[in-house]
Amino acid sequence: MAFPEVLRRKYQDILQQIRQSGLHKQERIIHDKQGARIAVEYPFGSAGKELINMCSNNYLGLSSHPQVIKAAHQALDHRGYGLSSVRFICGTQDIHKELESHLSDFLGTEDSILFSSCFDANAAVFETLLDESAIMISDRLVHASIIDGMRLSRAAHDTYKHSDMQHLRQKLELHKDKETKIIITDGVFSMDGDIAPLAEIVELAEEYQALVFVDDSHATGFIGAKGRGSHEHCQVMGKIDLISTTFGKALGGASGGCISGRKELIDLLRQRARPYLFSNTLAPIITMTTLKVLDILAGSTQARDSLERKAAWWRQALIQAGFIVVAGESPIVPVMLYNAKLTQLFADELYKKKVFAVGFFFPVVPQAQARIRTQVSAAHSEEDLLFARDAFIEVAQKHDILGKTKAELLNMQV
Ligand SMILES: *Cc1c(COP(=O)(O)O)cnc(C)c1O
Repeated sequence: MAFPEVLRRKYQDILQQIRQSGLHKQERIIHDKQGARIAVEYPFGSAGKELINMCSNNYLGLSSHPQVIKAAHQALDHRGYGLSSVRFICGTQDIHKELESHLSDFLGTEDSILFSSCFDANAAVFETLLDESAIMISDRLVHASIIDGMRLSRAAHDTYKHSDMQHLRQKLELHKDKETKIIITDGVFSMDGDIAPLAEIVELAEEYQALVFVDDSHATGFIGAKGRGSHEHCQVMGKIDLISTTFGKALGGASGGCISGRKELIDLLRQRARPYLFSNTLAPIITMTTLKVLDILAGSTQARDSLERKAAWWRQALIQAGFIVVAGESPIVPVMLYNAKLTQLFADELYKKKVFAVGFFFPVVPQAQARIRTQVSAAHSEEDLLFARDAFIEVAQKHDILGKTKAELLNMQV
């Protein structure tokens, strides 16, 4: 049967609406390995041109690091390419158990369980561990994968205003009769780069006998003095009941993720988590290479130290130039332009000046909160960051953006 014409038109109309509202996302084609400088096809169909990359999650510069690539080659030779099985049938190798144990050591938890992605980990955790008698109380800015994960759970749901501890307390008070209460937050928030107040959250959790869940995807490997994550930064290691994180960002950036935390909770996930039981095991090459990455990070804090210095420099350079930057301590440095169209234009002009950064606007961030999200990597050289700073300033001067208020930026005709 052919694709029915009415349906074809229906989907064409939806796509047309996305284009007309200016929200159509265009993928840029990279002809290169991930890195601080990458060859990107621009305009489409042309040869790659080298850009300074300010928008990857390659925080520690490990995505194409020679040691990481070497470990991946060895992994392929020693444990093969695919396992063609879920974990509980014939998909568990020694390296899977080893990675779970090393993750627990690194994160300071009791046990860990691997998933194909952090998205899968978040899809698994709330459905498996919480029943109707539970309440999930989540920060209003948690990641989309947590929202989807909560949708799959039979537990009740409520939210608190972003990092607002007064409001969280009110919600805990409101739901204090529920047997199981769980506070759910990102460690570092992906759009703003701010760190959740985990010390206060843990204190409230203790007072109300609630569990704490932290998604540390934008923190594992580099936040905290040893890069253990936002719980290390906030000095609450051992006090977070469940941590989810990804191997798809700082830890080499391939894919994969885990839930790490209280032993009984991890045991139950291994028995019942649907993405664990019904989806293929993590590829051996990623498993073994992630082990190598943890080994590198446990041996030296050099990469996270360098990242911290560079991120602080970059943040300060933008503030000094007169940009409005969201306050924070992470290598996510959002440059606020508020105005969605201006943001798109700005990213486009940066691109022409050989700086790769992407504009975020509604629905990825709230209305009138459009921004260019920049991300610093340990792989950036000083020269790269100076080049990027100059490009930001040149584009901003051209459009007379520097020193403007939020209202003025929103009113700018683009
Ligand atoms: C990136 C991200 C995820 C998804 O991780 P994947 O492993 O790519 O699926 C989940 N949560 C947060 C907070 C993230 O930033």
